[in-house]
Amino acid sequence: TIGDKFDEIANKYPDNDALIVRHQGLRYTYAELQQRVNEAARAFLAIGVKRGDRVGMWSPNCAEWTITQFATAKVGAILVNVNPAYRLHELEYAMNQSEAKFLVTADTFKSSNYTQMLNELAPELKDAEEGELNSAKLPNLKGIINLAEEKHAGMWRWADFVEMAEKIDMSQLERIQSELQFDDPINIQYTSGTTGFPKGAALSHHNILNNGFFVAESMNFTEKDRLVIPVPLYHCFGMVMGNLGCITHGATMIYPDDAFEPKSVLEAVAEERATALYGVPTMFIAEMDHPDFDQYDVSSLRTGIMAGAICPEEVMKAVNSKLHMKEVQIAYGMTETSPVSTQTAADDPFEKQVTTVGRTQPHLETKIVDPASGNVVARGEVGELCTRGYSVMLKYWNNPEATAGAIDNGGWMHTGDLATMDEEGYIQIVGRIKDMVIRGGENVYPKEIEEFLYTHPSISDVQVTGVPDKKYGEELVAWVKLAPGADEVTEEELKAFCKGKITHFKIPRYFKFTDDFPMTVTGKIQKFKMREISIEELG
Ligand code: ATP
Ligand code: MG
Repeated sequence: TIGDKFDEIANKYPDNDALIVRHQGLRYTYAELQQRVNEAARAFLAIGVKRGDRVGMWSPNCAEWTITQFATAKVGAILVNVNPAYRLHELEYAMNQSEAKFLVTADTFKSSNYTQMLNELAPELKDAEEGELNSAKLPNLKGIINLAEEKHAGMWRWADFVEMAEKIDMSQLERIQSELQFDDPINIQYTSGTTGFPKGAALSHHNILNNGFFVAESMNFTEKDRLVIPVPLYHCFGMVMGNLGCITHGATMIYPDDAFEPKSVLEAVAEERATALYGVPTMFIAEMDHPDFDQYDVSSLRTGIMAGAICPEEVMKAVNSKLHMKEVQIAYGMTETSPVSTQTAADDPFEKQVTTVGRTQPHLETKIVDPASGNVVARGEVGELCTRGYSVMLKYWNNPEATAGAIDNGGWMHTGDLATMDEEGYIQIVGRIKDMVIRGGENVYPKEIEEFLYTHPSISDVQVTGVPDKKYGEELVAWVKLAPGADEVTEEELKAFCKGKITHFKIPRYFKFTDDFPMTVTGKIQKFKMREISIEELG
């Protein structure tokens, strides 16, 4: 289990730096972190958390996040990751969908006051005893632990919560930990909600501990590595690829700040002599473009992961040389597969590193199938990417229908992503099935048209989707954000630009000029909402 692995490594490398949280000014060795994790685990037992109970975590990155992650794992509780960008309605959904009994919450984050939001949602809090909340809107929730320094009515302060550890012997914790099974659910992570309402993926120790281990293995991690994690912990990128990648190797977790800020990342790398760094391509770009970049010595960097989107060639070159990350890797995955399924390797040909998401991870299988027949397609042909192996989630929480739709009887997770696989096993992501448009019987992949339209100098961003059409089944609509000062471009001009350069059936029938795309809280574009809006507007 995660708790056992954590103890094994903490006992092996007690004096290694385990966790450095720069914005809180905290540094823990493995021995110190283990002590805090055990304390919090005993406190969870003291407030009545049982194996299988759900405990929500609604906070930006901080030491308590990670302590809670390992403490809940030790008592067998299921951690429910709540996106710090969530607002009332989404928090209510996640808490009730997962039937969470306890919640650990930050006090405030950016411009949001979480304590105030919770009081709005559960006005009963002001008269409640700690741990005895009885709320109409959050019927399962019993207690809230608030990370604020000051006390809030009806909620425990973290410091007071931790003191309750006294009531529980270490031997009691050890007994409970030893009864846990590696395939118990331990974590519910919500998908981003790019294609509909977020679904809660139920993941086991086995799922995420192994994925964290293999992700770090492929970067050749050892106890000497020091990883800067500027990505959110609520997301698998932070808590699995980051935290679990480190603790399976005795490596150091470094959190630069509570919200992404390129300068604080550069500072963390330079001052902590980091060997590895995570991010999405736009984060790496922001770091390298920072006016003070040259002031920071980043030569200690060696490796890291860039995920979430394909990395442009120029960016990859700069990451290799300017950031010294010669061994940086690209990863592909999804919440439901713990998350990583494919990864590039440091010795892959450069061309593969900038055009593919690499090859299948060890101990996993992938195949590309025709979504209609389920048959494996020929190499190079587009089909649905399917994954099988230790990483496939147990199920969607409280949603048997969605589970049956995603995992087939053979154990294959149908990712909903369209991809190709070449002769050597390198995989390219083409787009999502739900985003594919069928116009007059032709399959059209919006990404291809978007990439072409990006080349127009007046277009700063563009998204393409389909709308129903009587004659062709579907027609294409392009939502276009114009570059500053380019507002006189017309639909006719854009159509003329396409003519002769892309096939006629790929030229969008409609163009909509806009300033915004509908987006998830994690910044992914929701095409299903674009479609709804365009259908309405076009009649
Ligand atoms: P929902 O399932 O709720 O609609 P989502 O699929 O965006 O949301 P996540 O699990 O956070 O939720 O994201 C996984 C998806 O992100 C993958 O299915 C894929 O479409 C995309 N993705 C992940 N990594 C890459 C990558 N390296 N390149 C391209 N696309 C990627
Ligand atoms: Mg998805």
